[in-house]
Amino acid sequence: MPTLPEEKKPALKDKSFYGLKLGILGGGQLGRMLIQAASDYNVHCFVLDPDSSAPCKGISKEFVNGNLLDFDTVYNFGKTVDLLTIEIEHVNVDALEKLQKEGLTIFPQPEIIRMVQDKGLQKEFYKKNNIPTSDFTLINMKSEIKTFPIVQKLRKLGYDGKGVLKLNSELDLEKAFNEPCILEKAVDIEKEISIIVSRNLSGEVKLFPAIELVFKEEANLVDYLFSPASISETIKVKANEIALNLAKALNIVGILAVEMFISKKGEILVNEIAPRPHNSGHHTIEGNFTSQFEQHLRAVLNLPLGETGMIMPAAMVNLLGEKGYEGEAKFIGIEEILKIPGVYIHLYGKKYTRSNRKMGHVTILDEDINSAFKKVKLIKEKVKVIS
Ligand code: ADP
Repeated sequence: MPTLPEEKKPALKDKSFYGLKLGILGGGQLGRMLIQAASDYNVHCFVLDPDSSAPCKGISKEFVNGNLLDFDTVYNFGKTVDLLTIEIEHVNVDALEKLQKEGLTIFPQPEIIRMVQDKGLQKEFYKKNNIPTSDFTLINMKSEIKTFPIVQKLRKLGYDGKGVLKLNSELDLEKAFNEPCILEKAVDIEKEISIIVSRNLSGEVKLFPAIELVFKEEANLVDYLFSPASISETIKVKANEIALNLAKALNIVGILAVEMFISKKGEILVNEIAPRPHNSGHHTIEGNFTSQFEQHLRAVLNLPLGETGMIMPAAMVNLLGEKGYEGEAKFIGIEEILKIPGVYIHLYGKKYTRSNRKMGHVTILDEDINSAFKKVKLIKEKVKVIS
């Protein structure tokens, strides 16, 4: 995988950070929280996003409205910054490669972004590097599906569970995707965990403690999480080793979220990776000594990585648009939950809600996991995003 010539150091202006222009491709909530961290380093964030009212609009130094998949748009945007990063991987990589050739520092490296854009290439990468993952085959059309049950995933452009189908029998073929996909063995999942690993250009690597994800069943997207994951020491050690091996095999500069399944048989299988801040690290803003966002900055600026340990156990609840509501967002129940000790609110500034749209999140710090769980339930019951 990618190697970086020594001279490809981030373009830090005499290391004072004054006026360093960091370009961020994508202006959603991940970019917004990255900007919040960047302001402490006096790094000026330039953002490109197709949505003229994206969460980063209004808090970025420069906001450019444009298509992340368009070569010229990404290339021209890249020409205005000192250092470029992403908050979403669906971007025009040809433009990034040209910018890199012309001397722009881009982290994570464009080759990594290209690989991660395609779940088929991701799976092949795991196989080649002895990273455990569920068995799979690659297909081009649905007539190639012969065995059931099976999980079908679009190779490209899937997110938040869109692009993932569980096919139980031939009867489900009607709804199956008829384009390039992965067919994956359905895993009997005991738990889903995530580990965020960070690596800077000097090769320093640090892991955040594993967390446990709970998915909203009908939507295949994260409902809430607990930090730390309740897993055995053996699993913890093995999962950390897998995350470290991945970061090293990729030679990544930045942070990498590694989502894994723990099967009922105790296997650890990598599901997918994301070379950027991730939903599974939101609790680190309050719960850990360094947030994932600050860590990403430190890594791409080639600064010493921050301490990743927990300050306190935490839970994080995604505030998702209530089913059946579409229109200007209204938040209900916020005042009530702010009375609970250890509760921190993050609203992403999205004007419009729709079913299951990520509108914000709430972090809960609590020494006691049972008490944190009760607070999660209460928040889910009290807070609603409607229109
Ligand atoms: P996305 O990229 O849209 O988040 P994922 O590949 O992470 O999609 O899949 C979403 C969710 O679907 C997973 O978190 C998991 O709950 C379920 N899932 C995915 N692959 C499998 C599998 N092979 N077996 C069982 N469940 C799966």
